[in-house]
Amino acid sequence: MQPAVCSSTHKEAPALIAPRFPILNLDERRLTPALGFIFDARWLLPGESIVSILWKFARANGLPGHALVRLMGVDIDPYEGVEPIRDAVDLKHLRRMLLLPGKVLRASLLESGQRGRHHPVFRYCRQCTSLGHHSVTYQMFSERRCPARRQKLETKCQHCGQETPYILNASLVGSPYRCARCGALYAIRSPPAFATKPAMRKEHRIAIARHFHNRMAGSFCLDSDDHDL
Ligand SMILES: [Zn+2]
Ligand SMILES: [Zn+2]
Repeated sequence: MQPAVCSSTHKEAPALIAPRFPILNLDERRLTPALGFIFDARWLLPGESIVSILWKFARANGLPGHALVRLMGVDIDPYEGVEPIRDAVDLKHLRRMLLLPGKVLRASLLESGQRGRHHPVFRYCRQCTSLGHHSVTYQMFSERRCPARRQKLETKCQHCGQETPYILNASLVGSPYRCARCGALYAIRSPPAFATKPAMRKEHRIAIARHFHNRMAGSFCLDSDDHDL
């Protein structure tokens, strides 16, 4: 990921821990980073899902789930939520709010024409979740294992055995790296605090990036111009 798209107010990706309170002057209808917000595109791998992006946003800035779901479109009820599908989300609005490149956001959402080919529930790799990553490819029926360590993708919470609908709502977005039903962590530990060095090993990041590009580049139109949004 190129640092040129960094939207952080800092030049270096800051080491940080989740603050105990929102650091934004937050308008419920509009994310207004009057004081600046913390986010660095280097925290993202190619194909990072919108849920993963929003979890990083939530944790880094102490934002509640309902405020982030509202970024999906002004008419979306944050508790009912919206499918993480490209034609269901207001991408222009989202891009303006998160200040991320259009191609990153497009790639983070499921393809509109492929309804029925995605798991309707959140599906994850335990190892990747412990390192703060969830890929859009993990939601696809055609994918069985994580490309990094070949771990089996799972849908059930290890604690309560429940599955969580893969819908962008206040419940899912407001539970970073945890089961939205019981609150237990999906992995043994939560991801480390964001630091200047990525938590995931380089060979695993390469394997994930390569797999995403091989599998998805064509359908995600990754070369199209951001100005199309
Ligand atoms: Zn993994
Ligand atoms: Zn659970």
